[in-house]
Amino acid sequence: MPICPKCNKEIDYLQAHCEVVETYNVTIQKDEKTDKTMGLNWDHTDTDSVDNNDDDYCCPLCYAPLFYDSTSAQEFLESKTYEKVC
Ligand SMILES: [Zn+2]
Repeated sequence: MPICPKCNKEIDYLQAHCEVVETYNVTIQKDEKTDKTMGLNWDHTDTDSVDNNDDDYCCPLCYAPLFYDSTSAQEFLESKTYEKVC
């Protein structure tokens, strides 16, 4: 199993954080009885990922960011042991 270079524990997965854009249809919310405006009603319609290539791949145990590209993350997860390059 790969070993986290920060906490030296074996990990078999990484945690990635991705930015997303949430889309809502926003309408006026009215009270059905009094017809008074209650505020805005946010109706969620869509979730889109933002492809800005700055996803971070973190250790699930110590939460240290280890990689910023999918190639390195894949190589790390495929490796039996991790050898620190620098
Ligand atoms: Zn760690």
